[in-house]
Amino acid sequence: MSYLTEEQLTHFRDLLERQEATIRFRARLTIPAEPDDCDVTEVDDALGNKEFAELADIEAAKLRISQRQYGLCSECGCTIAEARLEAYPIAKRCTHCQRLHEQHRQ
Ligand SMILES: [Zn+2]
Repeated sequence: MSYLTEEQLTHFRDLLERQEATIRFRARLTIPAEPDDCDVTEVDDALGNKEFAELADIEAAKLRISQRQYGLCSECGCTIAEARLEAYPIAKRCTHCQRLHEQHRQ
């Protein structure tokens, strides 16, 4: 089994952090303009459920990076294709298991 190198992990952590910043920035834009008052709690309050779920996924992915579990499928334990992680850095299943998962939900 070939696992991601330190360099690749850093790269994906960057991707995740950029994604997180984008979500937080987007959320900030939805806050009604108030001149000198924009603290973090308000930003968090302004997050919709979708953003909130995305941030939770990003947090989980960053945690997997620090535990060296990132890029491993949570179902079968195989390595997730790098191209898939590149397109979808919060992926926690390989394409095969993801497909099965989605079929089961229908
Ligand atoms: Zn799998």
